[in-house]
Amino acid sequence: MKLRKVLALLLVVNMMIVSFAACAPKNKPQPDNGKGNVTDQTPDKNEGKELEGSLITEKPTKFTIFLNFNNMPFNPEWRVWQEIAKRTNISLEGVISQSNSNEQEAFNLMVSSGKLADIIGYVDASELEKLGRDGGILPLNDLIKEHAPNIQAALDRDERFRQTAVSLDGNIYQIPKNQELITAEFWWIRQDWLTKLGLEVPKTVDDLYNVLTAFRNEDPNGNGQKDEIPLFDRAGHKMPDEYLYLWDTSLEFYPRNGKMTFEPMEENFKTGVQNIVKWYKEGLIDPEIFTRGPKARDILLSGNLGGVTHDWPSAGNYNTTLTETIPGFEMVAFAPPADQHGVVKERTARYPGVGWSISSQCKDPVTVIKFMDYFFTEEGSDLVNWGIEGETYVVNPDGTKSYTDVVMNSDQTPIGYLRSLGVQYRIGMEQNPAYEYAFMTPAAKAATELYEENREWFEKDMPPYLDGALALKYTPEDEAEYKKIMSSIRPYVNEKFQSWMLGTTDFNAEYDSFIAELKTRGIEKAIEINQRAYETFLGK
Ligand code: CA
Repeated sequence: MKLRKVLALLLVVNMMIVSFAACAPKNKPQPDNGKGNVTDQTPDKNEGKELEGSLITEKPTKFTIFLNFNNMPFNPEWRVWQEIAKRTNISLEGVISQSNSNEQEAFNLMVSSGKLADIIGYVDASELEKLGRDGGILPLNDLIKEHAPNIQAALDRDERFRQTAVSLDGNIYQIPKNQELITAEFWWIRQDWLTKLGLEVPKTVDDLYNVLTAFRNEDPNGNGQKDEIPLFDRAGHKMPDEYLYLWDTSLEFYPRNGKMTFEPMEENFKTGVQNIVKWYKEGLIDPEIFTRGPKARDILLSGNLGGVTHDWPSAGNYNTTLTETIPGFEMVAFAPPADQHGVVKERTARYPGVGWSISSQCKDPVTVIKFMDYFFTEEGSDLVNWGIEGETYVVNPDGTKSYTDVVMNSDQTPIGYLRSLGVQYRIGMEQNPAYEYAFMTPAAKAATELYEENREWFEKDMPPYLDGALALKYTPEDEAEYKKIMSSIRPYVNEKFQSWMLGTTDFNAEYDSFIAELKTRGIEKAIEINQRAYETFLGK
């Protein structure tokens, strides 16, 4: 703890140096970033002059980049980045050594050295924004408006992309990596069990109760034992409240019609917990949901025991892998069951992620923003989504694209192979949905199409809702107070929920005192802080 404080203080001191450097007069030489002799950043004097093809500068130009995605520091040797350099005249030089896999350590080291790379990408967007507010990163708003029409078009077209890009102070400090697909998790059910018992796919939460009860009592796996686990989840150890979503509630904050609520204080919560307690008691929910851990899905599906779950597209892979051991095995995705009010809703979703920024030490930000814009053109987007035409993909007669055998049948996974060429790196870009469809199993594809076609199931104006919790941006003061309050409330709520579900204590008897305790611990203040952060998110 002490060490952390010392480090934090060091960081602050160094940030001040960075800020100071950023304010230095423009004609004063900026600190050399150690790569000075390999960078040729003569500002583009050819403004307005037509360059051939996709060239961004007349002469080959090099910029430094700090980026380390999935333990892969940026590598200029990657096939696709060689091609990008050839087409644009812009090449990048990574500043993180290829043997360094600790992204956080490398970032802190760079920031504290005061020598920033021209382009910076980092896993934590709030750290980038902080660096931006301290003067280490350029606000990109005007640069985009003036020089990046394709990024501007994406900001205008896609509200979620814009909300991710714009920071708390209204500045854009990073170009996010956009995700065009919204879908994350789906409801999955053993279709072969339904067929065997003569049941329909459940449409409502009451139907689901009946189906789970039949799975429990009617031996769909046919071994003569009452061993089925009707409802299970491999994330139960960290999000045991996920099935409260069936009654449109959770243990978390959730906005409704512009107003922030803490769901345990709302009416749906009573209905939800009363039902969850009942389902658990009746053996419809995995008795080991709190403890079984991330292998729950493998164990329960390969054991022919699990019936229904809420999970990612990969849940469809078992149709292929279990086809021989469990004849007839078939998982299918179905629509979220309508809740007690008849509303169909899917809470899990994907959100745009962190991309890249331009540091205040970059001598030619105009060229860099033009380069960043290239990845939002069709040509640039294809390169970072699909790779190189004729090598990694082909364009079919109907205009769709397919990966070549080189990608699909390498000794790595297709995505692993593509990443080894620098494709789908963590830069500011738009992830093309077709790229993901190209890898999916038929069941995963059907699941994704079903949910993507029903965007009305997804709440509008939702801030990122990651692992069941809102990810809002706070001012430093609000953040400190919020964290303090919630560090007392979260463990209390989790402990109470678990004891109700396990039947250790009685929910109805305890509810009023539970609410009183939340108030004592400051929940109303926490709601107020979240309301403010939510309004900022909405751009109010
Ligand atoms: Ca059985």
